[in-house]
Amino acid sequence: MTRLALALLALASSSALSAPVAAQRTAPPAPAPVDPKVAALRDAALKDDLAYDIVEGLTTEVGQRLAATDAEARARTWAVARLKALGFRNVHVETYQMPVWLRGAETAEIVAPFPQALKLVALGNSGATPAAGLTAPVAVFRTYGDLANAPADSVRGKIVYIGNAMRPTQDGSSYGAYGPARFVGPALAASKGAAAVVIKSIGTDHHRNPHTGGTNWPAGVTPIPAAALSVPDAELIERMADRGKPISLKLVLTPRFAGTGTSGNVIAEVPGSDPKAGIVLVGGHLDSWDLGTGAIDDASGVAITTAAAKRLLDGPRPRRTIRVVWFGAEEPGGYGGKDYARIHGGERHATAGESDFGADRVWRFEVNLPDSAKAFGDRLQSALAPLGISRGAGLGGDGTDVGPTMALGVAAIDLNQDGTRYFDTHHTPDDTLDRIDPEQLRQNVAAWTAMLAVVANAPEDIGPVTPRR
Ligand SMILES: [Zn+2]
Repeated sequence: MTRLALALLALASSSALSAPVAAQRTAPPAPAPVDPKVAALRDAALKDDLAYDIVEGLTTEVGQRLAATDAEARARTWAVARLKALGFRNVHVETYQMPVWLRGAETAEIVAPFPQALKLVALGNSGATPAAGLTAPVAVFRTYGDLANAPADSVRGKIVYIGNAMRPTQDGSSYGAYGPARFVGPALAASKGAAAVVIKSIGTDHHRNPHTGGTNWPAGVTPIPAAALSVPDAELIERMADRGKPISLKLVLTPRFAGTGTSGNVIAEVPGSDPKAGIVLVGGHLDSWDLGTGAIDDASGVAITTAAAKRLLDGPRPRRTIRVVWFGAEEPGGYGGKDYARIHGGERHATAGESDFGADRVWRFEVNLPDSAKAFGDRLQSALAPLGISRGAGLGGDGTDVGPTMALGVAAIDLNQDGTRYFDTHHTPDDTLDRIDPEQLRQNVAAWTAMLAVVANAPEDIGPVTPRR
C-alpha cells in the first residue's frame, strides 16, 4: 500500500472523532469507555515529581553529556544506579563504537565592510579552520534553496552564509522546513567548493546564543568548517548584505575528530506476563550537546518515559513487557537508535514511541496501528482526552531513536509535545533545568502513564504495520 493510501486510511479511521467542526452537525459517536484503573493511574501521575527529580539529578550531578565522551559514560553509570534503585528489572548497558567529535576554539569577526565580532558555535561534526583562522569573502544565501540553485563558481573558495525563516510552531514544522540548512547545507556548500559555512541558527529566540546541532557529511564529502551564528548576528550579516557591499569574515574553528569512542544505550524493563504479546518500547536520549546541561534535550524525555513506566512497575504485572531505553549518541547521528534496532530488531515489539521534543505539555497524539488494534486506538483517545490531548489526522512514526525499530514494521504511538518554546533554547547554553515547567512535565508523565496502561494491557494482538517511511 502506498504511503498516501495509508495516510488516507488513517484519516478515514479517525475522522468520526476528529472531524472538522462544520461537519459535526450530528452528535459524534460515544467515545470508548476508559478503564477506571487506567484513569486512576493517569490522574495519580499528575502529582508525580519523579520526572523532575530525574532531570534535576542528571543535570546537576552529570551536566552536559556529549556523545562518546567521559561525560556520557558518567551519565550511563548514573542512569544504571538510578534505574536499579527505582526497582526496574534487567537494567544494563549495551555499548557500541562511534566517531568522537570534540569542540575547539570558536570565534568569528567581520573584517569588512563594518568590522565587529560575532557570536557563533561550531556545528557537530564540523571540520576545522587553520589554528590561525580562515579569512574569506562571504556568499550570502537567504535560504537553503537559494544555495541549492546557485552555480558552484559563485561559492567556490568562499564562506557560505545560509539564512532561514524559523518561526515558533506548536508542531515543530518550522524545523522540518528550515532544518536542512543545518542538516545538509554545509555538505551541499562543500560539494560546490565552499571554504566554510555559517548558518543562521535554527532557532526562534532573539538572544545572542547560537544553536549548535549535528550536520552530516555524505561519503566522499570532506568536512569543512561549519558553524551557527546567533539569530541577531545572522540578521547583522543580512543587513550588511542589503547594503550591497562585499562582506569578508574571519573564522577560527578548531573542533577535531578524536578517533573512535564508546557510547551506549541504557536499558531497563517492567516485566510483562505474556512474552508473546510483544515489547512496548519507550524512551528518550541520554546524550546531549555540550553547551547547556541537556535538560529539555533530552533529560526530560528519559525522565518522562521512566517516571511513567515506574507507575506501571509499582502496580500489578502488566501483560506486555515495557522496555525503557535511555539511548546514547542521538545528537551526532542517531547511533544509539540504530544499535538498538541492530541488536533487538528481531524481537517481537508491539509498539514504539519516544519523547524528544522538550518538556512542555502533550497536545496531540498520532498512531500507526494495524487494523486489528483499531479499538485500542479509540481507547487511547478516550484515556488521553482529559489531559487536553486530541488525536491528530496524521500517521505516527516520529523519532530518531525508535525510528530504526519502527522501520522494521513496529506500530507507532507518538505523543506530541507543544513545540512553541522549544526552539528558543534547543541546543544552546540555555538548555538548563530552569526551562522546565514542573506542571507541564507532570502532564507529560500522566500522558505516558495513560498510554502505557492502555497498551501494556491491551487484549488485542498488535501486529506489524507498514512503516510511515
Ligand atoms: Zn533530542
